Amino acid sequence: MVNANIEGRVIQLVHDLNLELGSIIADDTFVEAFASFIAENFQCDQFTLLAHLQREAQGLEHAISWPAITDAGQMRMLRSLFLENNKLEGENLLGPIFQGKLVRAHSHVLRDTVLGDIANLMPDSDMVLVPLCSGPDVNLIGLLIMEQRPATADDKRLPLDDGLLKILGTTGGAYLAHTLVHTQTVDMFSTSMHEMNILQQIDAELNDTIALDKVFEMLLDWALRFTNASAASMALYEADTDTLTMMLQYGYHQPHVKVGEVIPHQRGGIALRVARSGHAELIRDVQQDPDYVQLSDDIRTQLSTPIFREERVIAVMSLQSNKIAGFDDSHVNFVEKLTRRAGVAVDNARLFEETNRERQKLSLILGGIVDSVIVVDADGHILLVNQSAINAFNLRSESELIGQKLTETIYQADLLRLYQSAIDRDEQVIREIELPNGRTYHVVVSDHSSIGIIIVMHDVTHYKETEQLKNELVATVSHDLKQPLSVMRGYLDLLQMTNKFDERSQRYIGQLFTAFHHMRQLIDDILDLARIEAGIELKLEDVDLNKVLAQTIVAIRPNADEKDIKIMSELPDIPTISADESRIRQVFANLISNAVKYTPYDGWVKIFAEVKPEHVRIVVQDNGLGISPEDQAQIFDRFYRVRRPETDNIEGTGLGLAIVRSLVEAHNGEISLVSRLGEGSSFKVTLPR
Ligand code: ADP
Repeated sequence: MVNANIEGRVIQLVHDLNLELGSIIADDTFVEAFASFIAENFQCDQFTLLAHLQREAQGLEHAISWPAITDAGQMRMLRSLFLENNKLEGENLLGPIFQGKLVRAHSHVLRDTVLGDIANLMPDSDMVLVPLCSGPDVNLIGLLIMEQRPATADDKRLPLDDGLLKILGTTGGAYLAHTLVHTQTVDMFSTSMHEMNILQQIDAELNDTIALDKVFEMLLDWALRFTNASAASMALYEADTDTLTMMLQYGYHQPHVKVGEVIPHQRGGIALRVARSGHAELIRDVQQDPDYVQLSDDIRTQLSTPIFREERVIAVMSLQSNKIAGFDDSHVNFVEKLTRRAGVAVDNARLFEETNRERQKLSLILGGIVDSVIVVDADGHILLVNQSAINAFNLRSESELIGQKLTETIYQADLLRLYQSAIDRDEQVIREIELPNGRTYHVVVSDHSSIGIIIVMHDVTHYKETEQLKNELVATVSHDLKQPLSVMRGYLDLLQMTNKFDERSQRYIGQLFTAFHHMRQLIDDILDLARIEAGIELKLEDVDLNKVLAQTIVAIRPNADEKDIKIMSELPDIPTISADESRIRQVFANLISNAVKYTPYDGWVKIFAEVKPEHVRIVVQDNGLGISPEDQAQIFDRFYRVRRPETDNIEGTGLGLAIVRSLVEAHNGEISLVSRLGEGSSFKVTLPR
């Protein structure tokens, strides 16, 4: 290997370099091969190679030492070693290497330069520094620091000769540059692939997460994994008080702030600055930053990024590395993408929390009321159900009911019928129903397009029982009154037969007859209602409603004619229904005669019908006095009569509509009213087919 003349040695050296190193493309493999090439070919037993290993960083790092370092302290020092170009250049002694020149010095001289730590590895030796340049325009990409000892006679390797070392520097430099570019390109490509995969995974995981603390935890975890940071923390920022509160931290040996603690202003450091400005910051050497507060020993680089919610900073994520320039632009880029996603996830998490809170509030309110409430969505699934409803239907717990189909949960035919008719008719349906628990409920089922169907049930059992008692009393008294009333009537007839009265007395007798008639009507109505409510047996037959309505109109027409009221009927061919004809006749006689009674002179009454596959609906409409909303609420109650000057002279018992409603319901039908005071009323009777 050792040639007599230098020229021959140079040719041999370049040839060997080419052969051994020219085809290597990975930088770490190159570094190792280069080191063993030097050890094998040069009279040098100890050297260290520094190289520009990171694309972004402007400086040299430790690449390899020969022989390998085994001392733990020295290894730690070498791992965190980073020599910035401008610091190297600033040293008088080292300046020439930037012009591609060799520098020779004794290690104790070098000890006082930025290369002091390296010089200490080779104490008391002559040293030669060989710059590795990437091309002829002297771009320093590496520095070979070699120990020079007097060669022994049998050492056949090359001497550390200026010319040879220069060749080593330029050729080795060119190869190193080549492998660095290759490695960096591969790195960049795999980083962006890796980033894409991670972001996809993050999106999927974030979409599944609705707990705020979990979102923050996940973010920090990903940021740590992607950037290889040695420590990371997340602090919540409260803009109104300008304070940071430590929320999470990983990787600090002895953290100076505890989780959950408010970070004092003077210890806010770079994170507080970022929270205030809303801009991410990458501090390549924290020791140079006046705001830096030491969170833990051996931190060199910090990357702090704000997390926004509705354009306000709500948190700051800080990543730290124990290497100078430990993060590069690709890390900043990734972390910014991450925090943007975090903003959306935080929003979602907060919205979910708020909705949940509202739901709990609603559930508390619903749980506190005595009425039973069930809310069903448009597809028939239970959205809400309160405790009272659970008790009424003897159901399982709320959590098991939510999301179930109402029709598969509550097997209560009357209620399901009401629910169905509210959907079919798209209007509020009100009925009283009795549940198997023996209690009676006043049920209101209404269809709200934005929510669904709301069922509210009010327990009226107690009221029903007292009413029942009252009705029984009234019925008994009425029954008992029938007898003395008949006696009175008999004596009145007798009086008339046996006496000759003057005109005035005749008038008094006439009034007695009217009063008698009214009382008789009242007693008949009361007893009839009592019979119906006790559960009359309907004599069901096929009823021709066209015929019933026509006959009823004929019977009432004389009363209408007296007031010049027109009765108009616009009826289609109504199919027969199964009903008790005399009771159905009673229903329409009541409604049509009411329409005539409560419509002033010259008005009109219209009767029309609607035939649907499942029901027929008869409407009795007038343009009479109309009924105010307050009166409408009680109009079907027994004895309820509207008290207005216009109705003062109209006779009635206030029982007609109560009887009508009971009869319609006995037929499984429904009655409803639409009316406006001063404009008229429409009573709609719906009967199943
Ligand atoms: P009444 O024997 O008093 O007619 P009802 O039960 O039949 O008893 O009616 C109750 C009240 O409802 C009446 O007193 C009247 O004020 C009101 N009403 C009933 N039908 C009509 C109508 N078509 N137009 C206006 N008001 C009516």
